[in-house]
Amino acid sequence: MKLATFTHARSTRIGVVVGDEVVDLSTAAPHLPTEMKAFLAAGADALAVARAAEADGPRIALSDVELEAPVRNPQKFLGAGLNYADHIEETGFERPKYPTFFNKQSSCVHAPFAPVWLPRDERRLTDYEGELAVVIGRRCRRVPKDRAAEVIAGYTIVDDVSQRDWQRRAVTMTLGKSWDTHGPMGPWIVTGDEVGDPHDLDLKTWVNGELRQDSNTKHMIFDCFDQVATLSTVCTLEPGDVIATGTPSGVGVAMEPKQFLQPGDRVRIEIARIGAIEHEFVDEPETTTLI
Ligand code: ZN
Repeated sequence: MKLATFTHARSTRIGVVVGDEVVDLSTAAPHLPTEMKAFLAAGADALAVARAAEADGPRIALSDVELEAPVRNPQKFLGAGLNYADHIEETGFERPKYPTFFNKQSSCVHAPFAPVWLPRDERRLTDYEGELAVVIGRRCRRVPKDRAAEVIAGYTIVDDVSQRDWQRRAVTMTLGKSWDTHGPMGPWIVTGDEVGDPHDLDLKTWVNGELRQDSNTKHMIFDCFDQVATLSTVCTLEPGDVIATGTPSGVGVAMEPKQFLQPGDRVRIEIARIGAIEHEFVDEPETTTLI
């Protein structure tokens, strides 16, 4: 099942994507929460209702809706650093002994097809990172690796957009990973049963039609289940938490010469059995001093 958050007729709600249409759960099952975190927190019963609606609920053409980030306000948005052997090689860092995580502030969550800002007044060192992301489905703590699949609602795609100079100013990387709009995700959550093995998915990233990243999630060093086990050892994971699981080789900063994103560049990230997200990079508007 593909769970989406969409805006239609000025209202934002959730639905189930079927082909090129979306079943509007707010009309198919009006008692269900209309926001993804609350829906996931409602558990197996809510999922069963959504599955039933998938077959015969009222549908809207995807071309008539705006797809939003499937989880618009995750309590946690974490990224795994240096988690593909080929990416470690291109960066020249050592292979980590333990999974490495950093925070992306949840305010950077962004719709999958919306324009992404190149920061104003900064050197143009903005880069893409195509990644498979885990979306947590159940409140959990100290989840053993062999039970991690039980707490994962599904998988989505994240562009872990990175401002490379700010990223390197501090070991936490937080400020380089958290610029507004730098967390495009979607286009939906594909539930674990439909994805099957999350560690055998082709992952490709193009910039203006040029293939830059061409890998497979089987090359992760710490897989999705390792990551859930590690994080949940430390903190309670909540429905809707998003974990971007790391990027393979082919990022712009590792190219020779280095390639950073310019206004008008289009990044497309495709992951097998999930779909694709695509966004244009534009100059940050000048109207954001006070909101
Ligand atoms: Zn990343």
